[in-house]
Amino acid sequence: MTTQTETFEFQTEVKQLLNIIINSLYSNREIFLRELISNSSDAIDKLNYEAQTNPDLLGEDTEFKIKLIPDKKNKTLTVSDNGIGMTRAEVMENLGTIAKSGTAAFMKALEQSKKESAFSDEMIGQFGVGFYSAFIVADKITVVTRSPFEKNAVKWESAGQGEFSVEETGKASHGTDIVLHLKSVEQGEDDFTDQWAIRRVVKQHSDFVRYPIVMDVEKEEPETDKEGKPLLDKDGNPIEEKTRTVIREETLNSMKAIWARNKNEITEEEYKDFYSHISHDWNPPLDKLHIKLEGTTEYTGLLYIPSTAPFDLFHPDRSHGVRLYSRRIFIMDNCRDLLPEYLRFIRGVVDAPDLNLNISRELLQQDSLVRNIRKNLVKKILEKLEKMDGETYGKFFDEFGAVIKEGAYNDWENKDRLTPLLRYKTTRSEDKWRSLEQYTADMQPDQEDIYYITGDALSSIINSPHLEALKEKNYEVLLMTDPVDEFVVQTLSEYKGKKLKSAEKGDLEIEPGDEDKQTEFSGLFDKLKSHLEDRVKDVKPSSHLKNSVSCLTGDTHDMSAYMEKILKATGQSIPKTKRILEINTNHPVIEKIKKIHEQNAQSDALKDYSELLYDLAVIGEGGKVENPSRFNKLVADLMAEAIH
Ligand code: ADP
Repeated sequence: MTTQTETFEFQTEVKQLLNIIINSLYSNREIFLRELISNSSDAIDKLNYEAQTNPDLLGEDTEFKIKLIPDKKNKTLTVSDNGIGMTRAEVMENLGTIAKSGTAAFMKALEQSKKESAFSDEMIGQFGVGFYSAFIVADKITVVTRSPFEKNAVKWESAGQGEFSVEETGKASHGTDIVLHLKSVEQGEDDFTDQWAIRRVVKQHSDFVRYPIVMDVEKEEPETDKEGKPLLDKDGNPIEEKTRTVIREETLNSMKAIWARNKNEITEEEYKDFYSHISHDWNPPLDKLHIKLEGTTEYTGLLYIPSTAPFDLFHPDRSHGVRLYSRRIFIMDNCRDLLPEYLRFIRGVVDAPDLNLNISRELLQQDSLVRNIRKNLVKKILEKLEKMDGETYGKFFDEFGAVIKEGAYNDWENKDRLTPLLRYKTTRSEDKWRSLEQYTADMQPDQEDIYYITGDALSSIINSPHLEALKEKNYEVLLMTDPVDEFVVQTLSEYKGKKLKSAEKGDLEIEPGDEDKQTEFSGLFDKLKSHLEDRVKDVKPSSHLKNSVSCLTGDTHDMSAYMEKILKATGQSIPKTKRILEINTNHPVIEKIKKIHEQNAQSDALKDYSELLYDLAVIGEGGKVENPSRFNKLVADLMAEAIH
């Protein structure tokens, strides 16, 4: 057993974070307490869960609680819990680095805000920086923690100045004591050794925590005799004025599970605080659903739609799922089986009274009750989204549109509900979202199909030459810039009987084909094709172009240029698809090239012009030409000839 103290440096990000916390004049100092209580409550949940299968873990210490111990003389406040505690390795990981999502999101936002303006101290409040927020009020923190799996405890200590120390120590039972050595209190600030300040903050932010949050308080009680009976006067009446001061442990929170209460008794503030408690997101949620389902599938659910997307929405190890309870007994966090992957942004709790408490994570998925609850939850969430007003739904779609699209192509059961929830920017929407319903309602009288184009930047696809003919006919085009859009359009072949058609693939069929043109230009086009054989599979008159001279298209079932780019980016090897070079036969330059061809089909100039026509098509769709210096030289030579 080593007893010496070892000193370590915080991870760089933690140092940055601590610097900000310590140096900011934070206006909402009290949040540290709800953060520490929240951590304690999580720690007790974890031990409670372990103890279901291993009751011996608890030893004598079986009554879960969180104790707040203010000490005016020593200017400390201790937050103590008898939860799962931490092993030495966990202490090093949790209190030395930024391992946690909330804090990581905070750091990311901070990184971005640096570029714009100075750090605003509201951000601490918005993100909730967990344990580290205790440095808002403390200039030194001592943590003594013991895991029920260890004999010894660990003592961690830091003044938040870049270093922390760790040593082995003793502790009677499992759990964690966090001792905050409080900074001097400025005028107008709460003193957190004052019981009224503590009571107020606990009531306000942590009332629903499901374990008692207790504090020793001094009370005046009527004096009693040795046996604890009230003192009586000579007539046998109690002597009420004779009191003594006793210390009693008082529970400060009501512990009511908010989801089990009646909707009309819960204030918005309480709903919001509970959201922050479970999500560690301190922005108000965009919306919430409080569901009570009775009958064969019985459950209560309190679900929230966040107002901003979590930073890990697309990470491989992203968080997903709700907290699962049964008759208010915590079963597990992040229960994935209750919500499909694409609804992973939903936060909340589900309490299913009939759930078998001993069910393993592995079996949960096959449980028919769980499956029914899941079905019902999806239905309720989709209903909620359908009923949102346009503005709120627009905000929602800005944040979570990409995952709704994921649902639209992989939730077959709800496809018909998800498709109307899709939104797109279009050539006519001026940066607003449009639904397929709005699109079809506004179609031109002679328009048969729904047109779309995919690509990675709105600015380049909106000006794509592929859209010239469509724009001239005043046909609206959906602009799809999410990688997931490529997959959605593969499964979404039509909406209300109108086919979805790529604006960059196949013949647009908006004007009758011109056989004569085909014959007239066939000689030239064969020549161009022979020069570009390695890159294009065909050269033909364009149905897309009005102003530009050339563009690249594909056959209806070919992969789009954007899809090719996406697959390449994910490291997949894909066979090279040759595309079709479409030529605008009404363009004056084509007439001239045709003349050269008629005079001398072997002219060297034709080779250069085919290269140029191809490169112009690549540039037109926002691509990169293969040989920029050759392109550069050809254009410069032409300019030299043209300018007199
Ligand atoms: P978060 O609360 O977002 O996870 P924190 O920085 O507050 O981030 O805490 C980091 C981790 O430290 C927690 O996830 C938990 O594993 C551990 N921890 C914090 N407080 C306690 C506690 N009272 N008991 C046991 N573990 C704790």
